[in-house]
Amino acid sequence: MFSPSETSTNLTTPGAIVSRQWRGVLNEYSDRLNISAATPIITLGEGGTPLIPAAALSARTGAKVWIKFEGMNPTGSFKDRGMTMAISKAMEDGAKAVICASTGNTSASAAAYATHAGITAAVLVPEGKIAMGKLSQAVAHNAQLLQVQGNFDDCLDIARDLATNYPVHLVNSVNPDRIEGQKTAAFEVVEVLGDAPDFQFVPVGNAGNYTAYFRGYSEEVARGATTKLPRMFGFQAAGSAPIVLGHRVDHPDTLASAIRIGNPASWDLALNAREQSDGYFGAITDAKILEAHRILSAEVGIFVEPASAIGVAGLLERAEAGFIPKGSTVVITVTGHGLKDPQWALRTADGSDVVPTIVPVDTAEIASVLGLAKA
Ligand SMILES: *Cc1c(COP(=O)(O)O)cnc(C)c1O
Repeated sequence: MFSPSETSTNLTTPGAIVSRQWRGVLNEYSDRLNISAATPIITLGEGGTPLIPAAALSARTGAKVWIKFEGMNPTGSFKDRGMTMAISKAMEDGAKAVICASTGNTSASAAAYATHAGITAAVLVPEGKIAMGKLSQAVAHNAQLLQVQGNFDDCLDIARDLATNYPVHLVNSVNPDRIEGQKTAAFEVVEVLGDAPDFQFVPVGNAGNYTAYFRGYSEEVARGATTKLPRMFGFQAAGSAPIVLGHRVDHPDTLASAIRIGNPASWDLALNAREQSDGYFGAITDAKILEAHRILSAEVGIFVEPASAIGVAGLLERAEAGFIPKGSTVVITVTGHGLKDPQWALRTADGSDVVPTIVPVDTAEIASVLGLAKA
């Protein structure tokens, strides 16, 4: 074993901290969250995710486009920002078990944070409807995972029922601590840009994240850190677009499983946020989601799960329709990592699957396939 002081020649105090790492959103923003000295901080180092300039998207739209890459969180989605808060507050209340309904990422996050805290997570997911990566995470992190023979909305109804009538703490985004934690993403954007962007694009499922960004930016305006509120632009999949349609969808259908939600829990809050921010809700087809997914991975270099690409599709659609003034600053939040649900990357535009070319063990042959001429 080496002691930390041996890793640096600059610091001479034995045992001194030699590098400062990001400490997770509760520690970084303790003065702006509802926590106290009595709150045990359960963190896996979430937040502090990169805000990446996307030249390819700027070139396509004439806007200054930045990607907030939330797939870089510990369990691979933005859900960790809310989960650190929800599990920490549950621990403060003495909880021994938490429960959630999930389209996948909430279960992965709840399972990781609960097990880190030494308590149990039970998760309800729609049978056969969640991506393999997410299912694997929840199982690996020791959750009691049950596949319910219904859709996400059924799972959430039951999770709420259980939390009301049994000794188990609900950590879905109807738990206000989740949205509190998630608002920190807006703080990070403002720190990097020095102001709020003109537009903030997000995918919308339960609309908790849309609501959280709006709250984060509103607080930045209130404390004088920004000159404006961004216009909040949210996107739902066309087969699962209750807010756009103005009524709940009983059988939501989209390949973007993370936003396959027919009755959003934060519907009213999201309508208010749209109203206050002069925002917008739009619907995007699955074909356009996959097209945006390809642009993001092949032109920008960022790999996301399908639901996360919808903001990019939304920007391309809105820019094409003339609603994004040239030179506007646009932040698109991409919510989950591509490794969660990687199969879509192999799907080509015509619906067939990519099979990489097979070659013999032969340098000349491989050089010829690669189109390399001998120097
Ligand atoms: C949960 C989730 C969403 C939807 O967020 P809401 O707060 O439910 O609107 C979008 N993308 C990914 C990857 C998610 O995990």
